[in-house]
Amino acid sequence: MTDTEQSVPEHCPGTQSEDAGKASACAGCPNQKICASGDTKVVDPGIELVKERLGDVKNKILILSGKGGVGKSTMTALLSRSLALEDAARNVAVLDIDICGPSQPRVLGVLGEQVHQSGSGWSPVFVEDNLSVMSIGFLLGSADDAIIWRGPKKNGMIRQFLSEVDWGSLDYLLIDTPPGTSDEHLSASTYLANAGLTGAIIITTPQEVALLDVRKEIDFCRKVNINILGVIENMSEFICPCCNVKSEIFPPKTGGARQMCEDLNVVFLGSIPLDPKLARCCDEGKDFFAELPDSAAITKLKEVTGKIVQICDGSN
Ligand code: ADP
Repeated sequence: MTDTEQSVPEHCPGTQSEDAGKASACAGCPNQKICASGDTKVVDPGIELVKERLGDVKNKILILSGKGGVGKSTMTALLSRSLALEDAARNVAVLDIDICGPSQPRVLGVLGEQVHQSGSGWSPVFVEDNLSVMSIGFLLGSADDAIIWRGPKKNGMIRQFLSEVDWGSLDYLLIDTPPGTSDEHLSASTYLANAGLTGAIIITTPQEVALLDVRKEIDFCRKVNINILGVIENMSEFICPCCNVKSEIFPPKTGGARQMCEDLNVVFLGSIPLDPKLARCCDEGKDFFAELPDSAAITKLKEVTGKIVQICDGSN
């Protein structure tokens, strides 16, 4: 059993349950007394630990999406590369807490790497000298392991991830979250609120069906006081690599993300085109910036990166 699995009992009923501290699974748990006392106001010691650990991380950014498959993990990886590439003196890291679908090890080309633990915590895996990554994907025995985890176990894992990775000093920490608004988001936002979360970037595609979920995501952020840094529209158009003709694969019936941002008073960070070569590079873990430096997607990504840096500089 790993440290991670020990942090929360397998069948923990959760602190809000009537059985909290009384269920058979609670026997031996260090929090049993607190839970049984029913004092739900007890402050989670993890909150202070996360604050301490992330004290040297200047910008902490959650990457969110309403739906799966809109390119959230791809954008997280590309933005991290773009931020690291733009300034060699800038330290960037990615934390992948997409527990049921951790894809950063593959997209960043470090699949199968081992994570080491030392006295000062887990060491992240380095992709470049100034770009590191930590993912649940490095720790799971099998890709299917986490799918059946319940809320408290996920919460424990996220707390460990936020408080026990030895990042050192960072300029940007991008946190790749699962799609939607679930336990993982509530856990991450609770822990990060105290540690000074810079804000969230929301990824969407132009279709109304994706935008509907983004509206819910924006609503969630506002309810839990997460600053929305902006929205990126991914796969906005397809530029044919042979004839350079542009086509809209997902025609935006309601004005797309740009209109939605105007309606909801949120910053529109830009649109990234659909590029099959980009998908191939990410699947193969290759560096898109090195492989295809002249692509339209790269130009757009650099523009978006510039805007993000500007917004973050303004909010520090
Ligand atoms: P999510 O994290 O939102 O579930 P992914 O980042 O895993 O989505 O992307 C889903 C698929 O779409 C992947 O195969 C990825 O390579 C592809 N993809 C994402 N963005 C683009 C893009 N701009 N052009 C081409 N393919 C893309």
